[in-house]
Amino acid sequence: MPPIAFTGCLIDRAEHLRNDRERLAGLWPTARVLSLDHNADVETNAGRDGLALQRGDAFSEDALDAALFLGIDDDGAWFAHRTDAFVNALDLRGAASRLSAFEAGLFAYARALLLWRQRTRFCVQCGTPLRMTHSGHIARCDGCESDHYPRIDAAVIMLVSDGERLLLGRQASWPQGRYSLLAGFVEPGERLEDTVAREVMEEAGVRVLRANYVASQPWPFPSGLMLGFSALAEPDPPRCNDELEDARWFTRDELLAEVASGRLGLSRPESISRWLIDRWLDEGG
Ligand SMILES: [Zn+2]
Repeated sequence: MPPIAFTGCLIDRAEHLRNDRERLAGLWPTARVLSLDHNADVETNAGRDGLALQRGDAFSEDALDAALFLGIDDDGAWFAHRTDAFVNALDLRGAASRLSAFEAGLFAYARALLLWRQRTRFCVQCGTPLRMTHSGHIARCDGCESDHYPRIDAAVIMLVSDGERLLLGRQASWPQGRYSLLAGFVEPGERLEDTVAREVMEEAGVRVLRANYVASQPWPFPSGLMLGFSALAEPDPPRCNDELEDARWFTRDELLAEVASGRLGLSRPESISRWLIDRWLDEGG
């Protein structure tokens, strides 16, 4: 199986440098800097694929204090900065097909951090405006002296099988014929396995017997983390309520025939949903 999109950024995040202004200033002149705009889309090179990178010394040193430190590798430091002064913007979905696995993962990381910073302006405990520290990784409240960390919204997504067939569902708002795995957010007080069982019951009325973790994917739209599971379920006939318009069991042959005929479309290629479905189809082949 190919790697899951947005998981290819294995730089050293160098947490110990985030609040070391002196060492960051030393890294800044030769650092590679990504540009992201107000939508957290990234600047790419005109006419060809690949991130458009600038060196830190192209900016004043003041820019370092507004930049996000991402980490280091053998060639120096990586930062991201926010600007709207570029035209070749690429969104994260496009990045999966147009950037290398490393660059797409780096972009996903920078995007998650930037979106969190843009949305995290006031303390949730006392309402005081927050001050970013640690190069964009902590928001500090001077009113009640609390620290706030980047938000991660955990969601499970599950490949549900009765041993032979795969359970897929569709929401009414999706493109015609699109089917995907069931998914849902983890709620307070739940184990991940409980979330899998609850969501499958709520959305399709199917009883899950057991669920095993398979793989995960950063999903910064704006702050998701998708936790992919494989679940074994009773072969209950699906019944839908408000969330899904339809849910159906498919054998491998049925699914392949529906896709080949154009009547059914699967999840987008950059999603872990599609990766899990392709993996299941491969196992049968
Ligand atoms: Zn506060």
